[in-house]
Amino acid sequence: MDQEKKQSKCNIHPKFNDDILLFEKDNIHTKICLVCAKTLTKNFNKIIEHDEFLHADQDYIFSSFPPLEDEDIYKAIKKLQIKKGSSIQELFIEKINNYFLSLKKEINEKIDILHNQVKQKIIQMEHLSQDSGENFLNIYNEISSKFDIQRLYNQYSKDSEQRLKEIIQEKYQNIKINTQKLKETIQQYQTDKIRLKKPKEIQQKILDLLGQIDFFKNNDIEDIEFLKSGSYKCSQSLQIQRLQNKQIQINQSIDNHGVSYANFILNPNKKYIFRIKLQTHSKADGFLNVGVIQENDKDTKKLYGEICYIERGDNLKMRKIVKGNNVFEGSKTQIDKEIEMRIHLAQKMIKVANYPNYENIAELEDKQLILENTQYRFAVELYYIAHRIIITHISTVSEFDFKM
Ligand SMILES: [Zn+2]
Repeated sequence: MDQEKKQSKCNIHPKFNDDILLFEKDNIHTKICLVCAKTLTKNFNKIIEHDEFLHADQDYIFSSFPPLEDEDIYKAIKKLQIKKGSSIQELFIEKINNYFLSLKKEINEKIDILHNQVKQKIIQMEHLSQDSGENFLNIYNEISSKFDIQRLYNQYSKDSEQRLKEIIQEKYQNIKINTQKLKETIQQYQTDKIRLKKPKEIQQKILDLLGQIDFFKNNDIEDIEFLKSGSYKCSQSLQIQRLQNKQIQINQSIDNHGVSYANFILNPNKKYIFRIKLQTHSKADGFLNVGVIQENDKDTKKLYGEICYIERGDNLKMRKIVKGNNVFEGSKTQIDKEIEMRIHLAQKMIKVANYPNYENIAELEDKQLILENTQYRFAVELYYIAHRIIITHISTVSEFDFKM
């Protein structure tokens, strides 16, 4: 036994046990002491006690083992608190439960504080605590002389009629003073001095905001604006409005070119999905264009000559058929359709399809048209008053699905 104990001590530092592991690339030690370990590495995270390995159970996760290229992953794993027997669904539910519990708690606390503050304020207004009901009735009874009149009727005599007439005439003589007196008394009594209009508005705003809580939001449309291009004077005649459902509607107010682009530059590494409604309802043909325009050209060029899909079909750039038939419908005068455009500039990819069925899919014929080291924006163009373009959806995805 003694022999064994002696063996578990460090040769260099006999007071320390040989119970440390050090697993570093080109610096692997399976049985050293703590002092040795600390001289052998600067990265103390890589020092592990034998016991830690021996006692590691099913749920145990080391803080820096196994070796990984990205040290942040250890922290990420710790944060996940992965345990046996817990599904991802349960973790999501727990996270969302925590969110709502804290939301309720904080809102309740805030409301309680406000409620008390207002109540204290009212209590401090001492003049409000008097019996204003009695005050009002006294003044009313005096002005109306209702008991005098009552008495005259109860003891009716030949003088009564004369006296009654006098009383009523007197009322008319004092009509101004009496009106004013009662008016003032009423005002004191009115509790609507506490104006509920603004607080009610705030209440509605809070409820509206709460309604916007969405953990699974996959449409960024509400965060994005569309701007009028500086190209042609006529782009300035565009009407761009946000619909109630947050979608963006673009109309032209004169029959002439109008170009509008998104308020952000496309990140070449991101995969974008845009969905666009194209509508026209007159002799006007489908000169409805959707595509990308170079940042440098966005206020000088028309989208028509750039990389774009044209509903009228007279553009050869975006009509290489991937599936089905052409997506565009040509020079039709009645159009009401939705298309989806997918853009991944780093891959020089732009595709377009009918939405939501994806039965026809086309893509950019010459991928080299998309230049490297060049900034692009998503843009649309229309021509006639009868035209309408509605951007219904903008999102980015980590991977495009296989629908197109
Ligand atoms: Zn040692």
